[in-house]
Amino acid sequence: MSAAAAIACPLCAAQKAQGIFRLESVPVICNQLWPDRAAARAAPAGTVDLQLCTGCGFIWNSAFEPARMAYAPGYENALHFSPRFQAFAAELAAGLVARHGLAGKHVIEIGCGDGYMLDLLAQNGVASATGFDPSMAGASSPFTARDNVEIVGEYFRSGQLDRPFDAILCRHVLEHLDDPLALLSDIRRAIGSRDVPVYFEVPNAGWMLETVSMWDVIYEHVGYWSAPALTALFRRAGFDPVSVGTGYGGQFLMAEAVPARPQPDYLDPGAAQICASARAFGQAADAELQRWRSALQGCSGSIVIWGAGSKGITFANALGEAARGLAAFVDLNPRKHQRFAPGVALPVVAPEELASLRPAMVLIANALYEDEIIAQVQAAGLRPEFAVIAG
Ligand SMILES: [Zn+2]
Repeated sequence: MSAAAAIACPLCAAQKAQGIFRLESVPVICNQLWPDRAAARAAPAGTVDLQLCTGCGFIWNSAFEPARMAYAPGYENALHFSPRFQAFAAELAAGLVARHGLAGKHVIEIGCGDGYMLDLLAQNGVASATGFDPSMAGASSPFTARDNVEIVGEYFRSGQLDRPFDAILCRHVLEHLDDPLALLSDIRRAIGSRDVPVYFEVPNAGWMLETVSMWDVIYEHVGYWSAPALTALFRRAGFDPVSVGTGYGGQFLMAEAVPARPQPDYLDPGAAQICASARAFGQAADAELQRWRSALQGCSGSIVIWGAGSKGITFANALGEAARGLAAFVDLNPRKHQRFAPGVALPVVAPEELASLRPAMVLIANALYEDEIIAQVQAAGLRPEFAVIAG
């Protein structure tokens, strides 16, 4: 841990930053696979230097360079192929329309992706739903088939709105912004004196800290939002959070707020608890990383990681020199096969190739699938050691 440094907090501007966790050479986009080893090795990489503001409890990557994201090629991270997420989103859309009386009204979503949520809102009776997302410029989507659903392929700006709106949604956007207060202030300007509710959803940093989910720390995320930090952001920008709760197994932070007078100096009393959790997280994550490096350097045979998603790829890159024993990723998804993970430049292979790799150790990226993976490996006549990548 580094001592307090003169880095200004992007949320409250206090110079009370404390370093809590650092990862070198992480892929700028960890979910993107590459066609060959050389391209994978040359994939854009950056540093994560997580800082805790001991004033407001906000956590951010002070080594984040926004320009690197702007130049990075697009990536697919839509969650809505998962039945669990579909159920979550359907309940959210119905609940928002009911709680805020949005049937027959006009709703805006900032960072709407392919418009999956806009379509759900329309299904629940909103008169029209307009989304803003620069990644959708020139793209088509099955979710804009309705006449009353529209996607504008640009960044949201208050000046470009041509008619009144009755609610604003913004989901999984804030964690990508290096100046989140600027967006909130612009939304507040767009609302003016009207009584328009907003809904924000972000990954829950409180959950990440408590469960020491260190492999959820990725370059794409510059900000890590806990309830106290999100509350401070709202109040400073002129919103009164009427509810700040969690969902999706505690992994998402969900906040609804209404316009109020700005409190530009607001600090949330819950920040102290977040600071304690963040320091504990940093110590636990450092210890966990050292433990993995020692364990893998002591393994004489080859090692594979089952699961070529962001968790496994972040893990492999964080190992540094200790990644030398890694031979491959194994994944069930055929679209990932014969492609290479960024940074570590390891191939992704099908489970059938395990027999020829004869690994001494299989690292399991997602504990949910531990039993079926062990059964499948043993059914192939292999007897490696197994370990679940915790954190
Ligand atoms: Zn701060």
